[in-house]
Amino acid sequence: MALATHWHSDKTAGLEYYRQQGIRTYTTTQTDVFSEKNGHKRAEFLMAGDTVFQIGQYTFETYYPGEGHTADNIVVWFGQEKILYAGCLVKGAEAETLGYLGDANVMEYANT
Ligand SMILES: [Zn+2]
Repeated sequence: MALATHWHSDKTAGLEYYRQQGIRTYTTTQTDVFSEKNGHKRAEFLMAGDTVFQIGQYTFETYYPGEGHTADNIVVWFGQEKILYAGCLVKGAEAETLGYLGDANVMEYANT
């Protein structure tokens, strides 16, 4: 499966390719709205809210923390492995900027 964590093309550009390869693609319904509005690729399956997946031996959950990098950014938590995949929302400690802020909510970013 492939899961796009927000609507920007660095997350969604491959969705159609993955679907053609028989890979199940997912985004949130919120991401789908932004993707459609901005002419980006869209997923085959939509998540209406935070979702728990169990695939083989792996369990992970999606979580919407609020607006930051984009209004729709989600994160993925692999609880057993204690790994948080946060996409573009969370930066490394060495990062000196928050990266692209063109679609960000800079007022809410720190709270999120
Ligand atoms: Zn982005």
